[in-house]
Amino acid sequence: MTRIIHGIDVGGTKIELVSYDEALQPLHRRRIDTPTQGILAFIEAVAGLVEEADDRLGAAMAVGVGIPGFVDPKTGCHVSANIPALRGQRVPSMLEASLKRPVNVANDCHCFALSEAHGGAAARFDSMFGLVIGTGAAGGYCVNGRLLKGRNGALGETGHTPISAAVLERHRLPIFDCACGLRGCLERYVSGSGLQAIHTHLSGEQLDGRGIMARASAGDATARQALVVHLDVLASSLASLVLHLDPDAIVLGGGLSKLSHLYEELPGQVTRHLVRGMDSPPILPPVFGDAGGTRGAAVLALSLLQSEDTRAC
Ligand SMILES: [Zn+2]
Repeated sequence: MTRIIHGIDVGGTKIELVSYDEALQPLHRRRIDTPTQGILAFIEAVAGLVEEADDRLGAAMAVGVGIPGFVDPKTGCHVSANIPALRGQRVPSMLEASLKRPVNVANDCHCFALSEAHGGAAARFDSMFGLVIGTGAAGGYCVNGRLLKGRNGALGETGHTPISAAVLERHRLPIFDCACGLRGCLERYVSGSGLQAIHTHLSGEQLDGRGIMARASAGDATARQALVVHLDVLASSLASLVLHLDPDAIVLGGGLSKLSHLYEELPGQVTRHLVRGMDSPPILPPVFGDAGGTRGAAVLALSLLQSEDTRAC
């Protein structure tokens, strides 16, 4: 008899639960608005989703949850920039107490990486980095299918490393402030809003990503230049990632992962930023894309079942 697991993806506006079998085939899906009335309303909403799925499929053995921010391993408390209700709360233990079964919680970008490492774009590689470039820029690093979270639980917060001084100088870019409290964070340049900020800096005009792409396709020189600068900053940041972690593959996620020119041009550009003798790993589009949140959370749940099986042997 196959065992059921639930993968839950928590976002600033929506919470989605997808139930899977052990082969990660989806069996049930439900999406609700993220409650804004505090931590107890959040726990109650998740418990309601789980109860409904249990009623339909039979009780899931384990639950995985992907949430923006991360759990500080030293305190067990959640550190989150965009879901205020969860900030400073012991979310994993509260969920376990409410759901009465093992719960594994990880960062939502960590879940994206796990999903692409398990049966996704990077399934055939020993190590991979999944980088989500959407509203922010963060990722996860998996080795042999296992997510490495790091001492602070925040391995992969690439978006909050500083932009290279050489790149800033080359394009005469300003040093943007970041919501994290630091200045010149890569996220402010490589994310969707970063691309817009670069375009605004060059043209003085506010335009969203789609508008910039449309103008560039129509031959607008400033929009094209914004894409060139964005590509250079992204290539420089991926080169830095390669120098630190040297993954066998990089998989892009988030809204900007739909830009096809990135896959054609990034590998060569990344190699150009590396020291002589090194080259870029393959840079791949995601297989599961937006579905990676719940699927990666299900991989977290699956790891709980597997470690229980190992203990039982
Ligand atoms: Zn930052």
